[in-house]
Amino acid sequence: MTLSIQEKTFLIESIRDIPDFPKPGIVFKDITTLLADKEAYALLMRHLSERYASYNLTHVAGIDARGFIFGAALAQMLGVGFVPIRKKGKLPYTTVSEKYSLEYGVDEVEIHIDAFSGPDSPKVLLIDDLIATGGTAYAAASLINKVGAECVEACFIMGLDFLSGQSKLRELVEVYTVIGVD
Ligand code: AMP
Repeated sequence: MTLSIQEKTFLIESIRDIPDFPKPGIVFKDITTLLADKEAYALLMRHLSERYASYNLTHVAGIDARGFIFGAALAQMLGVGFVPIRKKGKLPYTTVSEKYSLEYGVDEVEIHIDAFSGPDSPKVLLIDDLIATGGTAYAAASLINKVGAECVEACFIMGLDFLSGQSKLRELVEVYTVIGVD
């Protein structure tokens, strides 16, 4: 269940760093190289499915857009439903929304109002590829609670440990990162 140092190193090395994307000074963590490597992708998904097998989840919720890739695969492996949390204006039915601050300006994420209808006490895992400032995930976890579900953990493939985002998010929900990046 826990990854060995060698397995973590293998995953880290499967992720490509793109300097100065999308703007100067940002090192973009490109997970397309991990996805294209069937062994890295399988190792990661096996690790996540083993970790969450005992959580009695009813749903996995993924954040637009890279959270969909990991979240939808994980939901299938766990035999639970998948719910997308999307950027404003993309979901077709009635939505609930939450604004959050970016370095410059604000952004907004949305969820369908009936996203977790069905089970009496929906238990949801939130997932995304990366947590930086944590603003997106904080808004997403708030949305899950707003529509009447319990967000039991927020899971990220990578955490940028030099940013303080995780501590604010931990006030709202448990946080798990597969790989910490210094
Ligand atoms: P934040 O709200 O600051 O935690 O930003 C998280 C969102 O932005 C996630 O959906 C990430 O996919 C994306 N993101 C932020 N920084 C990076 C980065 N350095 N590399 C790749 N994606 C990033």
